[in-house]
Amino acid sequence: MKGICILGATGSIGVNTLDVAARHPDKYKIVALSANSQVDRLVEQCEQYQPAYAVIADETAVDDLAGKLKSKKLSTIVLSGVEGLEKIASLPEVDFVMAAIVGAAGLKPTLAAARAGKRILLANKEALVMSGQIFMDEVKKNNAELLPIDSEHNAIFQCMPDDYEKGLAESGITKILLTGSGGPFRTKDKSELESVTPDQACAHPNWSMGRKISVDSATMMNKGLEIIEACWLFNTNPDHIQVVVHPQSVIHSMVQYSDGSVLAQLGQPDMRTPIAHCLSWPERIESGVEKLDLFDVAKLEFEKPDYERFPCLRLAEEAIKKGGTAPAILNAANEVAVASFLDEKLKFTDIAFIVEQTLNNVASREAVSLNEILEDDLAAREQARKLIEVRVKQH
Ligand code: NAD
Ligand code: MG
Repeated sequence: MKGICILGATGSIGVNTLDVAARHPDKYKIVALSANSQVDRLVEQCEQYQPAYAVIADETAVDDLAGKLKSKKLSTIVLSGVEGLEKIASLPEVDFVMAAIVGAAGLKPTLAAARAGKRILLANKEALVMSGQIFMDEVKKNNAELLPIDSEHNAIFQCMPDDYEKGLAESGITKILLTGSGGPFRTKDKSELESVTPDQACAHPNWSMGRKISVDSATMMNKGLEIIEACWLFNTNPDHIQVVVHPQSVIHSMVQYSDGSVLAQLGQPDMRTPIAHCLSWPERIESGVEKLDLFDVAKLEFEKPDYERFPCLRLAEEAIKKGGTAPAILNAANEVAVASFLDEKLKFTDIAFIVEQTLNNVASREAVSLNEILEDDLAAREQARKLIEVRVKQH
């Protein structure tokens, strides 16, 4: 029986994780759940899954949560804030931590899971993008297990040999082929992109996801963050990663070998497949995902990514090549710009502009400590907010 902690239980990945785990009550026990501020949703989940702990990140909502759980006669222990999240990620009765908080807010609790030597099911790519080397070092030092939930990285992991950690070249791997649907605006003209709305950006053709990652998919910053994520997970660099636009989202990524072989992982665009894979690895379990019918799919298409219409790809590649705190600056500026776009203040095409200007204005440095990363994250957020203010006045 494995004890599970879900950081970000009320989100899209969190809910899918609960769905898969609940199919196997003999294998998984839900020990702890967390949410940012959605008290009612968290209470419902506590009623259904009876975790020992519930954490609400928003400190002002803690009394509301405690009161509601008590009125349902639940004896769930209530915690709050980042300390609460760190605590549940390190509990001795927790074996697996699903890192499914969106954005930089997930960094500290996910690092806590690494320090406690847990199996980390990593959905929160922003945490790895920000802290790269530090995160990988903590995983190694504490014998934690890091398994990728992001569908592309999970696919790559499935197509790798068992001993890929000795080095991709040594394993005969020549390239990682990172697929992406191209998002809702794949075929839209550059001039049309100016006026797209948050709801249009969040209407992803194949995947149903939280709003932040949906916007990232529309700008292709998501693919950029995934390039950085792949560099850390598979110890490589952008020169060995080719983004392949594949509108059907049936192939979730591929690995190319020196003998000419290309291995791919295919499946429905349903996150319960990678979630089930990481929960049961190295075994396989039922996930509830409908089986893939290739006759229904009928055709698979591939296109080159357009760096001109989707400049976030270039910005992400430049940031990881620069190294140090540059990816954290990229990520922070993007989070602020996306939030402002979702608030209908900033134009869609200005997201890339704000990220690029922030990278130009905030000097990155060699990251040696978590504090330096968090300082540069903060500086980037302040800079991005100032740039947005000026930009919004211009329109
Ligand atoms: P979501 O917005 O649906 O859910 C986010 C969760 O994080 C919620 O439970 C929310 O309460 C919690 N949260 C938000 N802000 C928080 C804060 N400041 N402190 C603590 N908790 C906070 O997002 P999602 O789509 O489930 O994505 C979660 C993560 O997984 C993201 O990093 C995303 O990039 C990654 N991911 C998602 C998908 C997908 O299909 N949804 C696929 C691949 C990767
Ligand atoms: Mg992905």
